[in-house]
Amino acid sequence: MTSPSPVVLVFLDPDAPDGRLADASQPQLMVTDQGAARGDGIFETMLAVDGKVRKIQAHLDRLAGSAEALDLDVPGEDQWRRAIAAGLGQHHVQHPPAAPAADELAVKLVVTRGVDGAVAPTAWVQVSPVGELGRRQRETGIDVILLDRGYDSEVGERAPWLLLGAKTLSYAVNMAALRHAHKQGADDVIFHSSDGRVLEGPTSTVLLAHVEKSADGTTVKRLITPQLDSGILPGTSQGALFIAAKAAGWELGYGPLEPRDLLDADAVWLISSVRLLAPVNRIDGQEIGTPALRKELSDELNLLFAGIE
Ligand code: PLP
Repeated sequence: MTSPSPVVLVFLDPDAPDGRLADASQPQLMVTDQGAARGDGIFETMLAVDGKVRKIQAHLDRLAGSAEALDLDVPGEDQWRRAIAAGLGQHHVQHPPAAPAADELAVKLVVTRGVDGAVAPTAWVQVSPVGELGRRQRETGIDVILLDRGYDSEVGERAPWLLLGAKTLSYAVNMAALRHAHKQGADDVIFHSSDGRVLEGPTSTVLLAHVEKSADGTTVKRLITPQLDSGILPGTSQGALFIAAKAAGWELGYGPLEPRDLLDADAVWLISSVRLLAPVNRIDGQEIGTPALRKELSDELNLLFAGIE
């Protein structure tokens, strides 16, 4: 007997208020769907812990923003929430978690422009296990290389049709950058603009920290991310962590950052919804901070991030 696919699919369907369950091991999409043929669509990837999606409103808000940028008419929030609940419920029935710590699931929302001439987009929720590699990298950290994205940092405003601030399905370039890094023995990438500004990772937001003693002997901790208007995707994880860090006494900063700022930092992370905080051990072969300080700051931020709903 074959075990059922570890992926649960729920299509959003006007005739099914809670969505329509579909078999992920069977064909479900038309080859003429413009999502498949052109990468014409948008998505979100979220983390569910113990059956509850984290930062769900921030993801739904960003999905709505991406939809607007692409002139896509996407299903309403209520439909998404019902389909997500149905997907998580079905996954729990088919694959009860072995232990609470193992109960992490990636929940992906996808909308495509549908087949040519379609009146409504194709939309679905996909629930799947979280990959081992990402979980491991939260602990071991990652080696990163800097790569030129080939655009200047103002192109987003000048050429909105590039859709730089939207989470589109067209990730072939991002995946090519990751393969390029892997061939060089690195784990991940930080893009910079052609005018030398730090941007983002192919699937993550860049964070850096500085720890300083102030004149009166108190420790000042500063958490910094690149300028949000430099043609990058606004990260929901970065947004939520900044709120928690501020409440815990951290100072916050928003670029502009140059590669030198990364190399001079006490710690650098790539942060995203499923892998969470991945500490950067080396950039282009140069160690960032010290292992002890990287670990101390990562432990502190991980604790803050774990408290986010
Ligand atoms: N930047 C890019 C290009 C991404 O693809 C992602 C997530 O996949 C992020 C940043 C991080 O976003 P979030 O924290 O919302 O997962």
